[in-house]
Amino acid sequence: MKVTHSRLMRLFITWTFSFYFAIAIFVSLIHVFFEYRNLSSHILEDLKSVYGSTRESLSIGIWEWNHQQVNSLAKGIYGLNFVSGVVITANQDELTIAKGSLNESHAIRFSAPIIFSNGQNADMNLGTITLVANQSVVWQRIKVNIVFILANAVIKSLFLALIILIVGRRLIGFPVGQLYTSIFNLRFDSVEKIYSGKVPISHKTSNDDTELTDLMRAYNNTLDKVIIRTTQRDSARLELENRNLQLERLVEEKTLSLQAKVAELNQANEKLNLAANTDFLTGALNRRAFLKRVSLELTRLNREKSSSCILMVDLDFFKKINDKYGHATGDKVLISVVNILSDGIREHDLLARFGGEEFVVFLGDTPLNQATEIAERLRQTIEQHNIELDPNSITTTASIGITQIPNGCQDIQPYIDKADLLLYRAKEKGRNRVESE
Ligand code: GH3
Ligand code: MG
Ligand code: MG
Repeated sequence: MKVTHSRLMRLFITWTFSFYFAIAIFVSLIHVFFEYRNLSSHILEDLKSVYGSTRESLSIGIWEWNHQQVNSLAKGIYGLNFVSGVVITANQDELTIAKGSLNESHAIRFSAPIIFSNGQNADMNLGTITLVANQSVVWQRIKVNIVFILANAVIKSLFLALIILIVGRRLIGFPVGQLYTSIFNLRFDSVEKIYSGKVPISHKTSNDDTELTDLMRAYNNTLDKVIIRTTQRDSARLELENRNLQLERLVEEKTLSLQAKVAELNQANEKLNLAANTDFLTGALNRRAFLKRVSLELTRLNREKSSSCILMVDLDFFKKINDKYGHATGDKVLISVVNILSDGIREHDLLARFGGEEFVVFLGDTPLNQATEIAERLRQTIEQHNIELDPNSITTTASIGITQIPNGCQDIQPYIDKADLLLYRAKEKGRNRVESE
């Protein structure tokens, strides 16, 4: 940060100082030029006054042919510190006295006639005097001035730079530095961070109210607006999050209740399905479900080219049980017989109650001899089974008719009818027996 702020000040000072110094030098040079012109005219005046004060003595010396006097006068003039050359020429005796250097290019010259006047006749021109002042005399005189002028320019420039440095730091460097630090450190993570990014406007700064102070205030105002927007945005986001949460909860609740309802519905469907397909009392398949399942089984078994069998089972003298023990007991007997039958067959075999005390069994992939064995076993189990009743127990028997369903059979009904006929043959032959064909 300090680098930027001092860089700005350095540039500012360098440019101002350079311009000011150049202008000061330029003005000083003009000053020196005029001083030079002024000094040159002063020296010319001095040469003129030397001429004025010596011309009478000179004219007398020449008139009286007193060469010695003329010579000593020339010597005296040459001895003056600003005179670098003297030439005196007399017209009549061709006298020429020359002292010092006379032909310097930038020398200051003054020439005047030497006039003699005796008060009676007209003035006589006796000769000419030329006085020369060397340029170095002028330079010697203005040398001190130049040094003083230059020192003046340097000192003024240095002071100006110092003043600019002090004032510039206070008015520009300090506020710019503060603004830069604030902008450089600004973070938008939270409202607090934005707030702490505001540039502090000190009492000192606000006293020197400038465009920079305005800029700092404008920057702070912008941050205030950003803070307001951020706060609004944050609260809107929070509200949105809350609403989302509520919505999620609601959806969750609804989903749960929907799931419960679906489960209920599934259960009800299952019950309905069970009720539609099974016998209410015993749980065995009903006629409609049996025929449907058998049809599916036959399709599968026909592919495997195997034969199956169908058994018709009817309890013997069941009416007597009803009559003797009551209808409820009869029901229990029916249930226990179904249990015996379903325990005695395989899982994929089918058992149904066709009506009253009449049952039908489908034994898939089972030849007739094997089916007859199974039927015999079932018959024996029913016969030997004691149905426990309070206070005593009862037994029952069943007659069974069996027939084989050939491979490729499409319609089972004729085989059911045939099994039924065989069942009645078993009844006729004395009951509690198996008849197969
Ligand atoms: P059979 O040896 O000739 O078969 O003689 P049966 O008495 O068993 O035959 P029948 O057809 O004369 O009688 C069947 C009886 O079964 C008649 C009826 O009251 C009884 N029955 C039918 N359905 C039910 C039932 O759901 N529960 C009970 N307890 N008895 C039933
Ligand atoms: Mg019967
Ligand atoms: Mg019957």
